[in-house]
Amino acid sequence: MDKLSDGSPLRATTGIAIGDGAGFLRHLARAYPDGFDRAAGRMIMGLASAEFHLERGRVSVTVTSADAGDLGILKGLIAYQAQNWPGTDRASVVWTGDGAGSPVLPHLRPMVLAGREWVAPRLCRIWLEGSDLTRFSRGGWHVRLLLPPQGRAPIWPHAGPGALPVWPEGPDRLDLRTYTLRHVQPEKGRVAIDVVMHEPAGRMMRWAATSEFGAPIGMMGPGGGEVPPADWVILAGDETALPAIARALETLPAATQGHALIEVEDEADEIALPGPAGIRVRWLYRRGVPAGLCTRLCEAVAALNGPPAGASVFAFSGTEFTAYTALRAEFRKRRGLKRQQHLAMAYWRRGQMEGGA
Ligand SMILES: Cc1cc2nc3c(=O)[nH]c(=O)nc-3n(C[C@H](O)[C@H](O)[C@H](O)COP(=O)(O)OP(=O)(O)OC[C@H]3O[C@@H](n4cnc5c(N)ncnc54)[C@H](O)[C@@H]3O)c2cc1C
Repeated sequence: MDKLSDGSPLRATTGIAIGDGAGFLRHLARAYPDGFDRAAGRMIMGLASAEFHLERGRVSVTVTSADAGDLGILKGLIAYQAQNWPGTDRASVVWTGDGAGSPVLPHLRPMVLAGREWVAPRLCRIWLEGSDLTRFSRGGWHVRLLLPPQGRAPIWPHAGPGALPVWPEGPDRLDLRTYTLRHVQPEKGRVAIDVVMHEPAGRMMRWAATSEFGAPIGMMGPGGGEVPPADWVILAGDETALPAIARALETLPAATQGHALIEVEDEADEIALPGPAGIRVRWLYRRGVPAGLCTRLCEAVAALNGPPAGASVFAFSGTEFTAYTALRAEFRKRRGLKRQQHLAMAYWRRGQMEGGA
């Protein structure tokens, strides 16, 4: 269930024993600059908001939300920060109210593989089926996929003390990968994810290309990655960012102008990208230069003219780590874009599997 049927918000409270409460709030404001309003002592994340009150040796927190998933995420995030604050211990955050003591992680869905289509020779669309997916159609484009160990029935994480996820360990350990939701269809109980087939191969791409229908996979989220409306945009990425760029092109207002630059191996990777006529789509080819070592995308972004005077701007990039550092510097330093005017993300790192060495 996502919303309370009578419309009243879900509510949870805790009191955290912290000597330097003001310091803790300053830390939260630094860690979540977009969500924390220091003057109001309030933090907003998705559909959830938290009110903080400083008391003697204690910070009291009330979290409210119309959405059980967002309530759980914000509770867990505050607990995580509190538990890692010097002088507090892991058992220090105990919530009362909605969701208290429940082992359910309200932003986790067990899904199964239900369909597969080849959008391009190296781009595999998988359809995942599950129930209660409305929350995935708002509040972020990214999800965490939870891959069970091969040959074992999945043990999904559950909510532990402080509403933080408790992850299965040892032989039940899950592999986590981050992907973009390409389509979300709660009414059909399914989502689509476009998975790039890359070299060297990885566990998730193999799972997408070869698993039997019915294979289980966990999905957590959503969060982050959206491209907000602006008069003039830069959308830059390699093929892993194609799903995000395609979503941006579909959702930006028809009058938007700017550039979409996508680095791929060759012409075979091109797909149709409907979007505003004023956004020029350009494909850049690596032609044998290994992904992650090609500099064409960064050079092309640096060579872009614009924006027109007076236009509002947003710049997005999703790339390998080296290009990410270059594009972040391009957006921040050379183009002088403010935090809310750009989003540069490292989607993968050459020589490293996600979350691993
Ligand atoms: C916010 C976010 C959104 C993302 N959205 C998407 C998406 O929608 N579709 C998508 O396909 N990917 C997406 N990615 C990237 C994806 O998570 C990584 O490519 C991931 O490493 C793939 O997992 P894997 O198990 O296939 O490979 P891993 O086991 O993680 O890696 C195995 C090897 O492959 C290399 N590798 C990983 N990705 C690539 C690549 N693209 N090209 C060349 N080598 C690579 C690694 O460096 C490693 O050496 C996203 C990442 C982030 C952070």
